[in-house]
Amino acid sequence: MRREDFPILKQQVHGKPLVYFDNAATSQKPQCVIDAISEAYTTWNANIHRGTHHLSQVATAKHEEARQILADLIGAKQSKEVLFTRGTTEGLNMLAFSFGEAFVGEGDEIIVSGLEHHSNIVPWQMLCERKHAMLRVIPLREDLSLDMNAYKQLLSPRTKLVSVAHVSNVLGIQNPVEQIIRLAHEQGIPVCIDGAQSAPHIPVDVQAMDCDFFVCSGHKMYAPTGIGLLYGKENWLSQLPPYQGGGEMIQHVRWEGTTYNELPYRFEAGTPDYVGSYAWGVAAKYMQECGMAALAAHEQDLTAYAEQQLGQIAGVKIYAAGQKKVGALSLNVYDAAGKLVHPFDIGALLDQQGIAVRIGHHCAEPLMGTLGVVGTVRISFGMYNTREEIDAFIAALQRALSILLS
Ligand code: PLP
Repeated sequence: MRREDFPILKQQVHGKPLVYFDNAATSQKPQCVIDAISEAYTTWNANIHRGTHHLSQVATAKHEEARQILADLIGAKQSKEVLFTRGTTEGLNMLAFSFGEAFVGEGDEIIVSGLEHHSNIVPWQMLCERKHAMLRVIPLREDLSLDMNAYKQLLSPRTKLVSVAHVSNVLGIQNPVEQIIRLAHEQGIPVCIDGAQSAPHIPVDVQAMDCDFFVCSGHKMYAPTGIGLLYGKENWLSQLPPYQGGGEMIQHVRWEGTTYNELPYRFEAGTPDYVGSYAWGVAAKYMQECGMAALAAHEQDLTAYAEQQLGQIAGVKIYAAGQKKVGALSLNVYDAAGKLVHPFDIGALLDQQGIAVRIGHHCAEPLMGTLGVVGTVRISFGMYNTREEIDAFIAALQRALSILLS
């Protein structure tokens, strides 16, 4: 893969070559994306949509072209089904608010799974509190996969929406989203897929998947921070009330009342991050040039190799061991007496050796409860990572453990 395109990776940290294994939190940016941001502010910056002047028209065209590029990337039927957000979190909050206003009432139920990120838990809890509805949770089986029999039992006429992660940000395992969607659709229930950890790593086709909503974040996909998307099928989006009021989302504003703009603008109040959307379009094209299937295969090789190498270190426990992983895996280490080596200590000693991993609950405290730990060490990959970096990580981990277990 094109590692040389990512200038940040050329540096040393604490005198050691940087090994960046925190891609599930955010990805690094290729030079073309960094250049795109600079180009926007150097040559065509102007507020979009309302301007008649040249720069505004250029900026508007760039923003709308980016919408089309992203619609193509995720397989949306039409670009107006792609709403720009600040990220996955905002997309889920938008949906919880708007869908909740339109369709959720007292006694209704929303279903999520037991391995969700807080972003796909808390907005639904807030909605349930507001509407006196109930949040139901698909439990996990022993092997940490979703208990699909329990899921079938949870689906009922009270269920208004199902919202689950495509790929777990902690375990890296992929949920059976096609089956989840089919079972919900058999009862006329829409499904939202949290694609924060799938869209950066595997080909996504929202039409083939048949999800009703899909959310993801640009910054995890080689694009800048502050831009994301909420995809929704037109027939659903057209039934939802706006999330925020302000400029651009209106048709006419009168003291007697306001009429709203058409899709997608109805959901994009205020000045959008048009430089971010443009740079995301550049990043998306870059990913497509690399080839989504090639990216997926490369990262699959890295996760399998890392798991195999880690398996040779005494005391290492890999969660969901042996299952296919997308871009990330979590582990903990236990000493000879079976006591947990604190992930924080491991993270700090790895950092001293130039290795960036994430430790903690990864915004998935309920899952940590199920695992019975305060946190894990998570390693997560991007297109630029290599087997050699995994070797360096393994050697660094062994050095860390020789200190911690001595
Ligand atoms: N959902 C999942 C599965 C995630 O991994 C993350 C971030 O790590 C989010 C949601 C939230 O994404 P953001 O912070 O970009 O809004």
